Amino acid sequence: MSRNHQNRQPVLEARDLSKDFHTGGAFTGGVVKAVQGASFKLFRGHVVALVGESGSGKSTIVRMLARLHEPTAGEIFYNGEAVLSQRGRRALLRYRSQVQMVFQDPFGSLNPVHRASHAVQRPLKIYNKANSRQELRDKLEELFAMVSLTPVDEFIEKYPHQLSGGQRQRIAIARALAADPEVILADEPVSMLDVSIRLGILNLMGRLRDEQGIGFLYVTHDLASARYFADEILVMYAGFIVEQAPAEELISDPKHPYTQMLLAAVPDPTRGLKTENIELEGEIPDLTSLGGGCPFAPRCQHAMDICNEAMPAQTTLEDGRWVRCYLYEDELAPAQMN
Ligand code: SF4
Repeated sequence: MSRNHQNRQPVLEARDLSKDFHTGGAFTGGVVKAVQGASFKLFRGHVVALVGESGSGKSTIVRMLARLHEPTAGEIFYNGEAVLSQRGRRALLRYRSQVQMVFQDPFGSLNPVHRASHAVQRPLKIYNKANSRQELRDKLEELFAMVSLTPVDEFIEKYPHQLSGGQRQRIAIARALAADPEVILADEPVSMLDVSIRLGILNLMGRLRDEQGIGFLYVTHDLASARYFADEILVMYAGFIVEQAPAEELISDPKHPYTQMLLAAVPDPTRGLKTENIELEGEIPDLTSLGGGCPFAPRCQHAMDICNEAMPAQTTLEDGRWVRCYLYEDELAPAQMN
């Protein structure tokens, strides 16, 4: 699914995004370095997957891009325009109409006292997408049909508890589509669903990418579903993006030792979607006390002295993919990998 983006402007770009969270009091508290220097581009009709264990910082990136968290440093560009300096309700509303979010828990993200029609109508009204009651009804039917909730009358007046998990997530996607977005930030959108319906939701999002040209940032802990759905994969560890590559290349030839470890935890990604959370040896380090070196060093079988001294820079490999690991700097170590 790899696509050529040369000379195209990304619809959304993160440039050197960082986020610190302060914990505790003024004198006793610490700083959680949740994200450090994250940069990537998202194009229309393209899916970028952000993969990593819990606590790696992927949801914080999504929340910064959704403008739910203010970045500590860095910038976000939407169609080439810097957005963080655009303040005020109107600017935020305009941005959020174009960059929508789908959350992990479809039940928690839908108001239990309102019918499915209300959830989808609300953004149509907020973003002025319909000028009359009839237009509102027509758009509602169109959106339900787009997410394959048909016949529409069967679903439109249901409450969230009367719908299955997959149907609720389709409503959440229809709600995001109501704003007519260019980008959807999908934060673990299938991880709380039964395995049997995950594929249907991924296929629905794939159809929206292809037919509507929507760009997706797909956050997941599951490399197999990232491979299935994404064009490009970014791997996160302890707040850093440590590897980027087209999805197929990353799966068939992982470079970073952490990516290799993640893949080793998936018995055979060619057999289908893995269903459980990743269980890996060792733990993500305490983000309040990261030293200056590579945060993966305590778990890395290739760690060298230099790894504890400074975080490696980004090394671009021959085919445009990149990795942050000393094994690939200065011709160091393909030999050490064997
Ligand atoms: Fe391992 Fe060093 Fe590479 Fe970090 S920089 S992943 S510790 S070899």
